[in-house]
Amino acid sequence: MPEHYRALQGFKDILPDEQPYWRLIEKTAIEVTELYGYRRIETPTVEETSLFSRTTGEGTDIVDKEMYSFNDRPDKEGRSANLSLRPEGTAGVVRAYLEHGMFQLAQPVKLYYLREPMFRHDKPQAGRVREHHQFGCEALGESDPAVDAEMIGLLFQFYISMGLSNLHVSLNSIGDRNCRPQYLERLKEYYLPLLDTCCDDCQVRFYKNPLRLLDCKEPQDQARIAGAPKIADYLCEPCREHFAAVKRYLDLYDVPYQLDPLLVRGLDYYTRTVFEVISTTSKQALNGGGRYDGLAEILGGKSTPGIGFGAGFERISLELKRQKVAPPPEAGPCAYVVYFGKSAEMKDAAVRIVAELRHAAIKTEMGYGDRSAKSQMKQANTSGSAYAILIGEDELAGGYVTVQDLRAGKELALEAKQIKVQRDALIDYLQKA
Ligand SMILES: [Zn+2]
Ligand SMILES: [Zn+2]
Repeated sequence: MPEHYRALQGFKDILPDEQPYWRLIEKTAIEVTELYGYRRIETPTVEETSLFSRTTGEGTDIVDKEMYSFNDRPDKEGRSANLSLRPEGTAGVVRAYLEHGMFQLAQPVKLYYLREPMFRHDKPQAGRVREHHQFGCEALGESDPAVDAEMIGLLFQFYISMGLSNLHVSLNSIGDRNCRPQYLERLKEYYLPLLDTCCDDCQVRFYKNPLRLLDCKEPQDQARIAGAPKIADYLCEPCREHFAAVKRYLDLYDVPYQLDPLLVRGLDYYTRTVFEVISTTSKQALNGGGRYDGLAEILGGKSTPGIGFGAGFERISLELKRQKVAPPPEAGPCAYVVYFGKSAEMKDAAVRIVAELRHAAIKTEMGYGDRSAKSQMKQANTSGSAYAILIGEDELAGGYVTVQDLRAGKELALEAKQIKVQRDALIDYLQKA
């Protein structure tokens, strides 16, 4: 047995000091999605591996190298399913949409998921985590460009509502099954004579997923990317009209966007609108998303348009800290019960007061371990409590407690900070205070 267990590489504890940031993200996500009429969905962490390999696409790093896959225990017939921890949120939501017949509801069906763990076996040196948590939205069953703009507007409002600034949306259209094949032919024609000098990954992408050639981050390939044909010049008329409408509606939503002809998404099922939210200060993408009109069909459903995004809590939290956005502080206790003496009767009385106050929804603490009254008072002072509730022999005999105002200034005499309150009037007193 190891001497000290540690969390696995790439897996992180989310400690109490981090939680206020996560709470701010959660609260804002719930409020904003509500405004836009999205309803919450939770899907399982584990699905059949093929759900992800069919949708995310062979030839992407996620499927080829990064999925946590395993064979389940065999069933009675000895068959064992290959399962995966989900690497992303969309496939599970679309699976649920089809499985539960949500296509029979009024369309679009607008769904969101919150703080859901996602798993990718990323290279650890990239400083990335292997389990991260996502907030995401999916709108299914409607191809209207107003839905695209609405979703981007929602996402932008989410960031702004948390107090972030210096953001813009990066926007592109990657066409559809009508026009993208022609574009990919042109892209490959352009790359073919250059291929020998491209990075190893690009040599693979050329055959498996040519659109992702534009996604290469290797310095040696940047000049080639800059000179490559742009998909905007190859969009068919319906794609062109859709994209123009998305831009017009984004103006109506007051969302600042910039066109990025090189923006593509690493997943095969994306069509038309793709977007990222970029932090102008760090030049990094906070998250991205896009339209995926071909996805439901791949899963055996009938053709169903859809659009969505996923946003990682970890990355958002980093940006909140970078931009010095302070989440609302956690409330300190209202009362701290201090008892004098070690008699069982005295401690019972203290525990009873603590219980009564907590039952009355008053945040209360007490000293444990029969510490001296002096040491309890010290803890009461550092706890941030507004009041210390003192109980000693006199209080016990007289049916009252002494309430000491811990916020009163040091210059005040002790008697001026203390008042006697009858036991049965204590809750009332604290609630009014
Ligand atoms: Zn490359
Ligand atoms: Zn098209």
